[in-house]
Amino acid sequence: MKEFELVQKISAPLTDEQIRAGACKALGVKSELLGDVVLTRRSVDARQDIVYRYRFQAYRKGEQYRPYVPQPYRNVESARPVVVIGAGPAGMFAALRLLQRGFKPIVLERGKDVERRKVDMARLSVEGVLNPDSNYCYGEGGAGAFSDGKLYTRSSKRGNIQDVLQALVSFGANPDILVDAHPHIGTDKLPEIVKRIRECVVSHGGEYHFDSRVTDIEKSASGFRVSCHGGEVYEAFKVILACGHSARDIYELFLSHGWTVQQKGFALGVRVEHPQWQINQMRYHGKYQPFMPVAEYSFVQQVEGRGVFSFCMCPGGILVPSSTEEGTVVLNGMSNAARNSKWANSGVVVQIEPGDQPASYDGPLGLMDYQRDVERAMYNYASSHGGKHPFAAPAQRMKDFCRGLVSKDLPKSSYHPGVVSAPLHELLPEHVSMRLRRALPLVDRQMKGYYTNDALVLGTESRTSSPVRLPRDPQSLEHVDVPGLYPCGEGSGYAGGIVSSAMDGINCADKI
Ligand SMILES: Cc1cc2nc3c(=O)[nH]c(=O)nc-3n(C[C@H](O)[C@H](O)[C@H](O)COP(=O)(O)OP(=O)(O)OC[C@H]3O[C@@H](n4cnc5c(N)ncnc54)[C@H](O)[C@@H]3O)c2cc1C
Repeated sequence: MKEFELVQKISAPLTDEQIRAGACKALGVKSELLGDVVLTRRSVDARQDIVYRYRFQAYRKGEQYRPYVPQPYRNVESARPVVVIGAGPAGMFAALRLLQRGFKPIVLERGKDVERRKVDMARLSVEGVLNPDSNYCYGEGGAGAFSDGKLYTRSSKRGNIQDVLQALVSFGANPDILVDAHPHIGTDKLPEIVKRIRECVVSHGGEYHFDSRVTDIEKSASGFRVSCHGGEVYEAFKVILACGHSARDIYELFLSHGWTVQQKGFALGVRVEHPQWQINQMRYHGKYQPFMPVAEYSFVQQVEGRGVFSFCMCPGGILVPSSTEEGTVVLNGMSNAARNSKWANSGVVVQIEPGDQPASYDGPLGLMDYQRDVERAMYNYASSHGGKHPFAAPAQRMKDFCRGLVSKDLPKSSYHPGVVSAPLHELLPEHVSMRLRRALPLVDRQMKGYYTNDALVLGTESRTSSPVRLPRDPQSLEHVDVPGLYPCGEGSGYAGGIVSSAMDGINCADKI
């Protein structure tokens, strides 16, 4: 087998002849001796001419291409039960792996199934009514279900990304995600995939329980007793805790049991929204055509010893209210598979390390309390300055933000709850505001036109990663104080993003 690359103008698809000719050349054989040719990667390169770069594997005749073979799911009806708390990417993939390993997953999810959850999210966006157990972060599919569904991760050392991508394809995702350099699914496709994962778990003898917020985890003779707010109790010999990083009540539960919880660095800042056409022009050097994929961007700047970076960029997406508690404003971004909205948004955030916050925010939950108070400051400002919707966001034009001027007017935004002109430069903690205001003009050197008053800066992007860690034994992945309990996914502080959380779910199930 040999790998080879072909480069082709984005406007003209590759032909079979071109591919086979490239493969013969790579192997140094005539076409009669050529076997399988497999596309392994496709990426857009806009550095000069706008081209697709394709990577292939070429096999000689008789040489065997081994396609990915998933492990079969077993019937686990009468197998030993493992409680999985949370049906986000970590919990869903832990449950699937438990089926493969012959254990019975009992998935407890505080929110609703993915269909009923949509109703709560619409009420939140339109009427401003927040269901604290069913929203953009909570409910079947977790924070990943109504998202951009970007599937790239830098944590390839954590596990086999193919295990996650192949499973997603088997549950209905577009197979393009297996080869695209920046794969994404889209919020219009994710709910169906999430539903099929549940159907697979249940049809093999696993259980899913919605509206089941876990309120206690206790050691018992058989392992654990897990209690839910409705009074139900589940017994299991192991527990995978995959509750995500917004489940502040779970961190408090750990503290109440005297189980170790630690502060962990996270990132805090704003969402930035540009018209998508401006990003297209910037990234494609003015040569964007409607048949091309809409442009993305990412950047990192260093300001005074801390990274300032773009996070979870959503091309052709919209901004959504991601609060899980009343009295707080939290934003995130999502998009459909077609990425066809008029806007491009991204988190632009500053790395926060333990000790960066005021000394009054001490103790294991110090950074979490600090995160919450910034979210509250945004809410208090917007609600007392004319915000018509409870989750209206304070906002400023980008240059005004950097220059410390309140904007006289604001451009249109995709954010349904609306925006309120605000001195975001003062509402954010000074060390965050200062770094953002210095970094944004610098980004313009890499992406001419990025620093513009057509762009909107909105608060808050605060749920980038967990401000808390539930420390694990590095070998067994069990909590250091509670053998048999596996903190997992983003909420454990050891993963971030859909794919790395899913891989962590697989790893925890493997350890069991
Ligand atoms: C709008 C939005 C867009 C995003 N876009 C992307 C993206 O494009 N790409 C990407 O990689 N990441 C994205 N993310 C981040 C990504 O969704 C998370 O990193 C990922 O979902 C974390 O997976 P998880 O399973 O660890 O936790 P979560 O997805 O947070 O799932 C945790 C689950 O646990 C449940 N739970 C919490 N507490 C309890 C309890 N006490 N009892 C029972 N259940 C409980 C919650 O309801 C939730 O369903 C986005 C997030 C949001 C909010």
